[in-house]
Amino acid sequence: MYLVGTGPGDPGLLTLRAYQLMRSADVVLYDRLVSNEILNLVRPEATLVYVGKRAGFHTRTQSEIHELLLAFADVRATVLRLKGGDPLVFGRGGEEMDFLRDNNKNVTVEVVPGVTAAAGVGSELGIPLTHRGMATSVRLLTGHLREGFSANDTAKASDPVDFAVTSADVDTTLVVYMGLGTLPSLSEKLLASGFPANMPAVAVERGTTVDERRVFSSIADLPEAAKACELVSPTLLIIGRTVTLSPHWPYGDYDESASPYEPKWVEQRGTPRGSDYDDWKVWLDVDLAASDASDAQHFVPTREIHVDAF
Ligand code: SAH
Repeated sequence: MYLVGTGPGDPGLLTLRAYQLMRSADVVLYDRLVSNEILNLVRPEATLVYVGKRAGFHTRTQSEIHELLLAFADVRATVLRLKGGDPLVFGRGGEEMDFLRDNNKNVTVEVVPGVTAAAGVGSELGIPLTHRGMATSVRLLTGHLREGFSANDTAKASDPVDFAVTSADVDTTLVVYMGLGTLPSLSEKLLASGFPANMPAVAVERGTTVDERRVFSSIADLPEAAKACELVSPTLLIIGRTVTLSPHWPYGDYDESASPYEPKWVEQRGTPRGSDYDDWKVWLDVDLAASDASDAQHFVPTREIHVDAF
């Protein structure tokens, strides 16, 4: 069994190792974060198993996914568990690996690294996560509360927003995964802890894909901006001075003592990569007919099975 990171969405950011495995897999388990363009590169004979959320159905719990993985690990086949980004960065890949190892001594799990959203989305936008004189470190944070905890829980240690704030300083670039839901509280607490209201920030939806949208703003106005622009998951937040180094940053140089930006936020579309993608397909020698991205039914239906019994 292979736990494979597929990067943030652009097929060009797949590793050759991931691609090689996708061309030889028998069974591929994937969830929502893995882009269609990437799934289209899986070899046509492989069975695709969707293990994520489906309209009208409940989200599969992590333990259901564990059981599914275990069931497939028992079949003598090359099984790939595809994960967006890197499998071991907020991907619960570590838990899946542990579970498999604990429950089936015969199964070997190999992890294939992927480009994590912070690196992929940051670099694509020209935002250096570290930069001499601007950011001496970078923190990868989650805005998502652990399962079983609510925002009103008194168990403060489990509140990622509190953690983000107590560990935040202006010399660090903060990168927040799964942070849309808790963004208002994050912003409020960062300001209360002394962050300047005009600290640069960007929210990037579906970064590196043809559907990318990004909203540049200040930490004070980003929650309102994200709401007004109706950003949805997956969205990555990058907060810190280094955001201003992006060639897409719509405001001038950052001056901590300056007044807030006018307009409060600027929404941009990502750079379309359609033709780029075709180049990749040709280069990778993929059967173009079997993986036409413009086809709304991106998978040959018989290849895909939905397992609801677990
Ligand atoms: N293992 C993944 C992260 C999984 S957590 C990785 O290493 O990147 C899911 C969160 O990742 C999303 O809520 C979002 O915050 C972020 N993310 C992943 N891909 C993204 C993309 N293409 N654009 C924006 N955010 C992304």
